[in-house]
Amino acid sequence: MAGEGDQPSATVMGRLLVIQQAIDALPDDARLADFVRRALGGIPGIADAHVHLEGRTTAPTGAIAALLERCGGGAGPVPVPNLQRNIGREGHCFPIRTPDQHFGCLVVQIADEQALRPYRDFLGNISSTISRVLATRVYQARLEQLNEELRQARDQLELRVAERTRQLEYHATHDLLTGLANRPLMIDRLHAAISHARRDARVLVVVYLDLDSFSFMNTGLGIACGDAFLRETAHRLCRVVPDCDAVARIGSDEFVILLSGLESVERSGHWLHEMLAAVREPVRLEGKDVVVTGSIGASVYPFDGEDPELLLRRANSAMHRAKRSGKDSVQFYASTRDAAVAGRMELEAELREAIPGGQLVLHYQPKLDLQTGAWYGAEALVRWQHPKRGLLPPGEFIPLAEESSLIVILGEYVLAQACRQAAHWHRSGLAGKSVAVNVAARQLRDRRIVDVVATVLRDTGLHPGCLELEITESSIMHDLEYASSLIHELKALGIRISIDDFGTGYSSLSALRYFRVDKLKIDRSFVKEIESDQSAAAVALAVISFARTLGMQVNAEGVETPGQANFLQQHGCDEIQGYLLSRPLPAAQLEALYRAGNPPGWHGKAPE
Ligand code: C2E
Ligand code: CA
Ligand code: CA
Repeated sequence: MAGEGDQPSATVMGRLLVIQQAIDALPDDARLADFVRRALGGIPGIADAHVHLEGRTTAPTGAIAALLERCGGGAGPVPVPNLQRNIGREGHCFPIRTPDQHFGCLVVQIADEQALRPYRDFLGNISSTISRVLATRVYQARLEQLNEELRQARDQLELRVAERTRQLEYHATHDLLTGLANRPLMIDRLHAAISHARRDARVLVVVYLDLDSFSFMNTGLGIACGDAFLRETAHRLCRVVPDCDAVARIGSDEFVILLSGLESVERSGHWLHEMLAAVREPVRLEGKDVVVTGSIGASVYPFDGEDPELLLRRANSAMHRAKRSGKDSVQFYASTRDAAVAGRMELEAELREAIPGGQLVLHYQPKLDLQTGAWYGAEALVRWQHPKRGLLPPGEFIPLAEESSLIVILGEYVLAQACRQAAHWHRSGLAGKSVAVNVAARQLRDRRIVDVVATVLRDTGLHPGCLELEITESSIMHDLEYASSLIHELKALGIRISIDDFGTGYSSLSALRYFRVDKLKIDRSFVKEIESDQSAAAVALAVISFARTLGMQVNAEGVETPGQANFLQQHGCDEIQGYLLSRPLPAAQLEALYRAGNPPGWHGKAPE
């Protein structure tokens, strides 16, 4: 081929064209440089080639390194027109650059100048192609970076817009002074509450609460005090009702509260009472205790209407009636409902007073130890000596107390009273008689009960082994982990734990593996049928053998006939209680029973 004049060969030109086109397709600098070096190595007259890209390709060695040295990396002015820099006879240098960017150079080591001559200009094309490709990549990278910056800026803008929209929405739907829902939002929620009440067949009570003589506060103490008072009222209402979203402020001193999911109107009595009480409590403003009362009007879906505006109007008109009838009170739109709710509210208020007023009395029902035939101890059962209504059984007030924290106060009172009584008996010659106290679910909800029991034991001096707490299955089954640790802590005090009404709750025998309780009390309903119904008898027997296996004792309550007692004794029940032996008795009568010595046994004894 050499010496063939200056005519380029079509094959070689074809290859050079392919090389030029391939440069575009190579994804990165290193592979591009490597490809060009190999491909140019096969072109006539070229001994070696090297693509030098500053800071991006590795430095060459040997002859090429020397040529590159002379080429100076391709920097500096370039003679036009062929873009080639003269570096002597051994090589060519083609700068890789654009008018404003410098990348490096293509260095070619010459083997045969003559043979290379027809293609030399094309090498210039290749270096320009590399320049173009690299410049495009730089441009694209910059473009991508800009795009990314743009995207980030847009994201931030969107975030700010969303935040601002949220703020605007909040302002449009909330009362800025108290943070409560405002009237439009409350109407929305009322719509939703109505459709839920319709679906669940529940009643919905719309409560309109207006502060009595609030304007005096603004004029007397100033706007700032008025605002502070409203904020405090909002805070208290939120604390009292189950769901703060149900509370709205719709006028200067007017609040609307939605009580939903109620089974009956009477059920609202407790909440209404709590709201009035919360408002009535003194608020400390500028060193003074300020007392303001509220008047409540209430309307009820579905009885008083099915439309939000109508229900609100009716609640409002009931509120005005409450104001006229002396304030600090509740009126329903349909006044027939006032009596039922008021009755319940009154009972609750009375019960609250009854505890400190000493109206609660304990009766004790003795339990017989079937092994020894002696009285084992007694269960304390509370009664309410009501000043007007006489002695009320627990069924008439315990459920009411359980709806509020009253049950906690009541429970603590009963516990202290029962322990004091038992300790007194121990000191007066009736040693070792155990006392059992019923504990409500709400009392077990927090660990404070552990401290309460410990304090009572310390204060009364009762031996812990003589105190038994009766808890129901349903009050502990929903959170086994918590229940087992709570029971563990209680038992660490040395007291005994029994499961009351066993068999009526979720009755999962397997769950009992988790708690180390001392005793199971077979529920009255099984004992009642023990002689007549095989399945009741089977349950009783299963419970007895199950308890045996786990080292627990078994009590049967509600034993009324000798037949039931015989059956239970034959099958290894540890302890019985019921009308057959004795009804629950006032302390003095139980004491007399204890002192009468061992019980005569039930054989031949008819229930009282
Ligand atoms: P309980 O714990 O299952 O109490 C046993 C109930 O059965 C008592 O009713 C008792 O008088 C009654 N009873 C006892 N023997 C017989 C019998 O042979 N036949 C029949 N038919 N009934 C019998 P009481 O005293 O009316 O108590 C009812 C419920 O009130 C108790 O059921 C208990 O759940 C609750 N309670 C009573 N006192 C307290 C208390 O101080 N705190 C709590 N949280 N609940 C209490
Ligand atoms: Ca009980
Ligand atoms: Ca029971």
